[in-house]
Amino acid sequence: MDVSWEDFGWERLGDGVGRRRLPVWDATTALVVGEDGALLFDTGATLREGAGIRAQAQALLGGRRVTHIALSHPHFDHVLGTAAFSGTEVYGAVGVDTVLTRDRDALRGDAVRHGVAEADAVEAVDALVVPHHLVCGEWTLELGGRQVLLANVGPGHSGHDLAVLVPGSREVVLCGDLVEESGDPQAGPDAIPSRWPAALDRLLELGGEDAVYVPGHGAVVDAGFVRAQRAELARRFGVS
Ligand SMILES: [Zn+2]
Repeated sequence: MDVSWEDFGWERLGDGVGRRRLPVWDATTALVVGEDGALLFDTGATLREGAGIRAQAQALLGGRRVTHIALSHPHFDHVLGTAAFSGTEVYGAVGVDTVLTRDRDALRGDAVRHGVAEADAVEAVDALVVPHHLVCGEWTLELGGRQVLLANVGPGHSGHDLAVLVPGSREVVLCGDLVEESGDPQAGPDAIPSRWPAALDRLLELGGEDAVYVPGHGAVVDAGFVRAQRAELARRFGVS
């Protein structure tokens, strides 16, 4: 039996997989439900937001807890809620551990610049959880009765971009900010533009023609949208 995503303001993406568009920055958080475990993809912009996601996820899971977290990339609106989840196994692309350890001041500054209250940013960065499991290449996670694939597809939008493929009757690809629908893809100082189009090729290989592609920000899209965004990025950055 599937959980009732809509009751909690989440969007159902497939059997046992749904996502929520978080307020203010419209970042996506997604949940994949297995028989034994549950994977959360991205954790929000503050500890308070993370705690809200945790409460909703626990309700969606019928009282069970999130067991695994995958972080798409080291930007404040995707990682700063992680410490609200204790006892979870946290995954990220290899190298993200270094960034989240070394660049805490920059992360806090970025959060404040984007409108997170100073005290909230300080609290979240102080408590910041660095992934324990670093993915280079691909990593299959067993959630009980279902597997998900974590894939290090970057760099591109950041130096450390991790996507998740959720197999099902219709495959779901959680893209992080490699794909954006609600605005133009954001290329900050840590973007690697020359590699970004290749990262989108990798996403398309993972999901194929019929998958649901879930952007880091915005409405779900299809393979045609991802291909068009790839072409636009290649033009914008002058790469092939
Ligand atoms: Zn980002």
